[in-house]
Amino acid sequence: MKALVYHGTKDVSVDSVPDAKIEKPTDVVVKITTTNICGSDLHMYEGRTTVAKGTVLGHENLGRVEEVGNAVDTVKVGDYVCLPFNIGCGFCANCERGLTGFCLTCAEPGSAGAAYGFAGMGPYSGGQAEYLRVPYADFNCLQLPSDVKEKENDYVMLSDIFPTGWHATRLAGIKPGDSIVIYGAGPVGLMAGISANIQGASKVIIVDQHPDRLKLAEKIGAVAIDDSTGDAVEKVLALTEGLGADCGCEAVGYQCQDHHGHEVPNLTMNNLVKSVKATGGIGVVGVFLPKDPEASNAMAKKGQIAFDFGSFWIKGQKIGTGQANVKAYNRKLRDLIAAGKAKPSIIVSHELPLDQAAAAYKNFDDRKNGWTKVILKPAA
Ligand code: NAD
Ligand code: ZN
Repeated sequence: MKALVYHGTKDVSVDSVPDAKIEKPTDVVVKITTTNICGSDLHMYEGRTTVAKGTVLGHENLGRVEEVGNAVDTVKVGDYVCLPFNIGCGFCANCERGLTGFCLTCAEPGSAGAAYGFAGMGPYSGGQAEYLRVPYADFNCLQLPSDVKEKENDYVMLSDIFPTGWHATRLAGIKPGDSIVIYGAGPVGLMAGISANIQGASKVIIVDQHPDRLKLAEKIGAVAIDDSTGDAVEKVLALTEGLGADCGCEAVGYQCQDHHGHEVPNLTMNNLVKSVKATGGIGVVGVFLPKDPEASNAMAKKGQIAFDFGSFWIKGQKIGTGQANVKAYNRKLRDLIAAGKAKPSIIVSHELPLDQAAAAYKNFDDRKNGWTKVILKPAA
């Protein structure tokens, strides 16, 4: 089959690889019809993770079930399913509590959390490919309704970014009537904005530096703040009576940049402490890693940042972090899409065949104007 393979820093290509197949009786194989490129893929693409050369990338996957293992009960050949980017077993201590982003049995020994085509999250191949092996299929497949063909570009967002944006707002503890500030107007930050709107936010403020992404922030009804002059915090405070927003989200991660384009890994975290009010919550879904050997300074190489803990403490703020537990949200978010109350595909800029994936990675990684979210159609 054809698949997008990582060969090294900024070096990916669509190659012929062995077909995905049933390896355990609890597996299914899905013919991928839509698969997205994610901001998380870019950390790997840029050589800023431990992902092995030869890995097939792709963790935002949707498709039609092609083959079913003997021990699979509920999933049938022909079903259209969306796969959470995290792979859960369903029976470990964390999965039982709904924390499927931290599955203990599917993860690498000594760690928690597994995913398709992802650094440090197990040996699972990704879905930027014609076919994908899905472990523990009864648990991991989200069944899609009969309007799947018409809304496929919406439902595919249930694999990751829509639940992740929602998770960010839950970690931040948003309540109806709250104001919220979101750093990052990439796909995840925009989904956090949509999630905040659905939950009754009185004001959604989204910070970024790219005009195309800021335009999308406005399109979803947010106040867009352009940080290209580096004064985002003052602008947020001006919009929130000098107190800061009720809560906030980090949707950028450890490669966040200042307005000169230099990486400053503690920038968004410290900006959040400043632009969220005292006692407010902060939800951090942007990725931060325990090691970043290619970082520019010694602390960052060890995955450390200089965090304004004193200001955070004195303000009595709360913080929540980590990979989103997609399964905790995807069923209800699917129903919002089906009912026409959420349209996450609003951010899609490019719909391309798999063989154009390498060029798409380059353009999305360059944050080239107009490249806000790329979806690939391997079956087209
Ligand atoms: P993206 O790279 O497309 O978007 C990030 C945006 O942040 C860009 O538009 C960039 O201009 C902006 N940005 C950079 N520095 C900034 C700053 N100082 N202030 C404000 N904005 C700034 O990525 P994405 O797909 O939206 O993902 C965002 C982050 O979320 C990534 O780190 C990704 O790995 C992570 N992620 C986490 C989960 C999870 O489960 N926790 C799931 C998906 C993605
Ligand atoms: Zn993703």
